Amino acid sequence: MTYDLIIIGAGPGGYVCAIRAAQLGKKVAIVEKRAEGGKTRLGGTCLNVGCIPSKALLDTSEKFYEARKHFAEHGIAVQPSIDVAQMLKRKNGVVDALVGGIAGLMRKNKVEVLTGAGELLAPGRVRVTAADGTKAEHDATHVVLAMGSVPIELPFLKFDGERIVSSDHAISFPAVPKRLVVVGGGVIGLELGSVWARLGAEVTVVEALPQLCPFLDADVAKALQKTLEKQGLKFVLEAKVTGAQTTADGVTLTATAKDGSPLSFPADRVLVAVGRRPCSEGAGLEAAGVALTERKRVKVDGSLRTSLPGVWAIGDLVDGPMLAHKAEEDGVAVAELIAGQHAHIDYNLVPSVVYTEPEVASIGLTEAECQKRGLQVRVGRFPFLANGRARAAGATDGFVKIVADAKTDRVLGAAIIGIRAADLIGAIAAHMVYGGSSEDIARTCAAHPTVSEAVKEAALDCLGRVIHA
Ligand code: FAD
Ligand code: NAD
Repeated sequence: MTYDLIIIGAGPGGYVCAIRAAQLGKKVAIVEKRAEGGKTRLGGTCLNVGCIPSKALLDTSEKFYEARKHFAEHGIAVQPSIDVAQMLKRKNGVVDALVGGIAGLMRKNKVEVLTGAGELLAPGRVRVTAADGTKAEHDATHVVLAMGSVPIELPFLKFDGERIVSSDHAISFPAVPKRLVVVGGGVIGLELGSVWARLGAEVTVVEALPQLCPFLDADVAKALQKTLEKQGLKFVLEAKVTGAQTTADGVTLTATAKDGSPLSFPADRVLVAVGRRPCSEGAGLEAAGVALTERKRVKVDGSLRTSLPGVWAIGDLVDGPMLAHKAEEDGVAVAELIAGQHAHIDYNLVPSVVYTEPEVASIGLTEAECQKRGLQVRVGRFPFLANGRARAAGATDGFVKIVADAKTDRVLGAAIIGIRAADLIGAIAAHMVYGGSSEDIARTCAAHPTVSEAVKEAALDCLGRVIHA
């Protein structure tokens, strides 16, 4: 069978690329190896073991935490308990429904799904090996590599699925661990650490660097740490993890503190969340001659073309943030470029969100990055404590911070820690896409009482005319 386009990997990068290419009249096949009970599981990391299951657990655990800690102040009396089996059943139901939805989208767009492991034999030629070992070869004018990423395994902390686990396991613990140690204070560590802490686990996060989520503005990272500490999470920063000893009834993580003293953390489970590595091995890339970067990501040019003609790569497999929405943008861009259209992605304008409580959202440059680039900036801030809607909701932690160019007033970056930060960042993104200034945001009328007024006030603060603080 000859296709216009074969995509290897059906995560948010791959399946969105397939849909867009089909919309543009292309004959498309998508190869996916993830299958269960004879059924292909589309949707990649994001739907199966990433964004969606983790958010389902965050939502359940947030309701439980709210009920336990905050209902009383509203005059609501309850004595909640957690049924972990039901929580996991609900989470699996959410995931299965969305995975089934992607299969429906493939049928609707006449995208052929080829189940099995894809291998690039040469430009335009792909072999698919099914689980039973059956092999089939397919031709296409273009091949898109979209194999995504998997958790990094540390050589001295091998995953055993029981005591030392990755996020793949930590979304399905059958019971709340009494003590959970998390290696890595990044996005996964804080999100999944929050889930189990809210349900009652004693959670300690051990991080190598002096700050949580190193990509975040330092002020925001500090505020996040403080808030999570109030929720009971413990943090040990600047620690060098050295290994772990497992026994029949637990595991002890060992590390070295900044001052060189030994540290040990007894626990029921250790979640290792130190980043993800691209799936650039085992799919024939090196043999076919696809160039990789030093960090084993597929090397692409500004238009996502690999070193081989007609072979493209997108999503977690290539440089840039490992985020589902970034993978989707890549997928759309490649489909449009293949169809002869123009496509451009501004990677500086990919928002990033940590779905803790409160949420943390950021976009563009941090204040420190602006300083490093020698840019003169004005910084506006506004605390949710001074926002009426946040007060009504009892969610006063956090603030909005906007960084604008001191001469042109163009918004260069923003960070929000606080209620509905993930949704608020979208409005700032829209201004930034059109080169908006802090004055543009300040002159945009925000409904009252909403938390979006905090964004407007932070923009006003950039101009030295904040109203409510
Ligand atoms: P993937 O989603 O990894 O999909 C790649 C697919 O390719 C997989 O299905 C894999 O089975 C398949 N594959 C690999 N090799 C082959 C082969 N040889 N043949 C056939 N198929 C193959 N991002 C966000 O934006 N927001 C979030 O809230 C968020 N939360 C996350 C939470 C967790 C716990 C994790 C682990 C990740 C989270 N992410 C989140 C990151 C997000 O999941 C990834 O950035 C995104 O899934 C990358 O998309 P992708 O299409 O590049 O690859
Ligand atoms: P991450 O890169 O966000 O964080 C890893 C953390 O581990 C860093 O803080 C790093 O300094 C630390 N670390 C590295 N080696 C260490 C060691 N030996 N000891 C102690 N700490 C160590 O990676 P992650 O949390 O594993 O997430 C992987 C990817 O998945 C990220 O790129 C992220 O973008 C994506 N993701 C996104 C979301 C979201 O958008 N909400 C949620 C989960 C995951």
